[in-house]
Amino acid sequence: MPAADPLKARIRQALADRHSQGLLRHRQPVQRQEGAMIKVDGRLYHHFCGNDYLGLAECDSIRIAWQDGLRRFGAGSGASPLVTGHHQAHHELEQQLCDWLGFESALLFSSGFAANQAVIHALMQKGDLLLQDRLNHASLQEAGHLSPATLKRFAHNDSADLARRLEAAPRGCPKLVVTEGVFSMDGDQAPLAEMRQLCDDHGAWLMVDDAHGCGVLGPQGRGSCAADQIQPDILVVTFGKAFGCSGAAVLCRGDLAQYLTQFARHLVYSTALPPAQACALTEAVRQIQNQQWRRERLHTLSNLLTANLGTQVPLMSTATAIKPLMVGESQRALDLSAQLKERGFWISAIRPPTVPAGQARLRLTLSAEHSEQQILALADALNEVWHAAETE
Ligand SMILES: *Cc1c(COP(=O)(O)O)cnc(C)c1O
Repeated sequence: MPAADPLKARIRQALADRHSQGLLRHRQPVQRQEGAMIKVDGRLYHHFCGNDYLGLAECDSIRIAWQDGLRRFGAGSGASPLVTGHHQAHHELEQQLCDWLGFESALLFSSGFAANQAVIHALMQKGDLLLQDRLNHASLQEAGHLSPATLKRFAHNDSADLARRLEAAPRGCPKLVVTEGVFSMDGDQAPLAEMRQLCDDHGAWLMVDDAHGCGVLGPQGRGSCAADQIQPDILVVTFGKAFGCSGAAVLCRGDLAQYLTQFARHLVYSTALPPAQACALTEAVRQIQNQQWRRERLHTLSNLLTANLGTQVPLMSTATAIKPLMVGESQRALDLSAQLKERGFWISAIRPPTVPAGQARLRLTLSAEHSEQQILALADALNEVWHAAETE
């Protein structure tokens, strides 16, 4: 008899469970095309679920900056930042981010996921209180679950609940409040001014992950905190969304940056971003600062979509590029997504565990790359599939 293989059995069971719940996921190779289109399996689709909100992933000046960087600095950074992987190009990008966003220090990370893990891991110890919005991104929740600190999750965007939890905490206990600026699956915004005040009143630090706000909101695209005129203790910006690239930065005071340089394991023990990518990001920041028209265009397209949707279509109205279409049941979200695909629109269904049970949705996102015609065609398609679903 061969030996039992308990890991294999576990994997089989987990996959069978996901499948029977209609929650099995898979990846599909896509090819990006001009004008917010993607090609999948040889067919072209209007792309309405990406995170390239400002259309910078296709921007010529950013590609050129990347190519120049490649020529000058080669393919990779060659080491982790504390050895010799921190190049002049990284240094200049960090300086630029500090000037733009108004912080003393910036530290680059290879991803937003890594940055969130690193900061929470380095900062929080046993006995500390970590307060997180219930709907925070998986990278933040995960860091919280792995942390020895006491993790409490407050009701989504609920300052009163946060206040109660801060009041209940022992005095003198280190406290970190963590929120997203713009919530990734809902597109709504945290009450940052209230949260800043509460943190000040209770001696807590405020950490804002502004993955979906930076570039899109605020003067010069400086993000949610600038829009609400507050300064968090820790700001995380990610470059995979509005910046059209990838990577992330943590912005904070100089002493915290120095601390993180010692203790943030995802920074110390990980290869620095390619310097050419830092060059591309420097150009992306310039575009974000100077091209107000990209934000205005996003706003115009958002209004156009809302104006052309039937009142029965439950699209959540947001000030951001994220427009969730609440569906409820996972299978129904999959069906709607499939019907939209038939009509040439690619909008993925978002299901648990990414969102709470019973809150499956289509996460529709807009980009400055979309044309008016694409928006009008999308509105028609949504009205049609929604009407069909209601009259079934
Ligand atoms: C996308 C995202 C991240 C992860 O960033 P990556 O750079 O893609 O790893 C972190 N936080 C939030 C809120 C996000 O939406």
